[in-house]
Amino acid sequence: LGRHKDDQRPTAFEYNGVRFGQDNLNVFAGLCAVDTPEHVELMMKALREHGQVCTRMGAYKPRTNPYSFQGHGKACLPYVFELAGKYGIRVIAMEITHEAHVDEIREALRQTGNPTGVMLQIGTRNTQNFELLKSVGRQREFPVLLKRGFGITLEESLNAAEYLASEGNTRVIFGLRGMKTNMGDPHRNFVDFAHVPVVKRLTRMPVCIDPSHSVGSRERAPDGILDVMHVTAQGVIAGANMILVDFHPNPQKALVDGPQALLLEELPQFLEDVAIARAAY
Ligand code: PEP
Repeated sequence: LGRHKDDQRPTAFEYNGVRFGQDNLNVFAGLCAVDTPEHVELMMKALREHGQVCTRMGAYKPRTNPYSFQGHGKACLPYVFELAGKYGIRVIAMEITHEAHVDEIREALRQTGNPTGVMLQIGTRNTQNFELLKSVGRQREFPVLLKRGFGITLEESLNAAEYLASEGNTRVIFGLRGMKTNMGDPHRNFVDFAHVPVVKRLTRMPVCIDPSHSVGSRERAPDGILDVMHVTAQGVIAGANMILVDFHPNPQKALVDGPQALLLEELPQFLEDVAIARAAY
């Protein structure tokens, strides 16, 4: 990924008809967690109406509280992949927390036979789960989105990404999702999108931003703009290559992170603002 002295391979790559690289931008708007087939369908329908071919859908959710909804797991994969095929979704970013989940995803894709691809997401709680990184690095079928650890240095997170590459998988995207601090931040996490150009300078990985998990709410600035939108624009202007962002057809019914989800009606404005910010980059 640019951190080994002998490694000169480019990290731009194409996966399932979608190009990822430090020179372009892909939007992954979708559900933080899959809850019902109806919500998945409404989300994917809206994405197709607005020309989107990528999404995020959480099936395996790592929750802080063991009594919170943990995701439907493999049970929801068949309908998620069927609907993705129906609405022309090419790539779904989906978090995994155990190597067995990779096999479950592979098997569900095979059974549904849809041409949808999956980008395996490793979340902030597993950034330094080295055995998981090594096993996901050994498989070459799926690209990987590795999120920065929320309580470790940037250097440590970049080395974690290198675990994927050292096992052979160089199709890796690095995700910024905010940092934990103890300074009473107004947002759920301290927004770290100023690190986009830093990661691009230090490595050849495309860089993803996650404004939803950074901000964590639908608060608005005095100008009326959602904080999620403001920080998205800041990340895009800083050169982000991918945006992972939560939407929901009915955030009050969402089983995970409803308060930070944007409404489906806000999707066109969001995409328009992203295009303006990208033009300003
Ligand atoms: C997520 O993207 O759903 C998630 C849990 O993110 P993070 O690992 O950044 O908390």
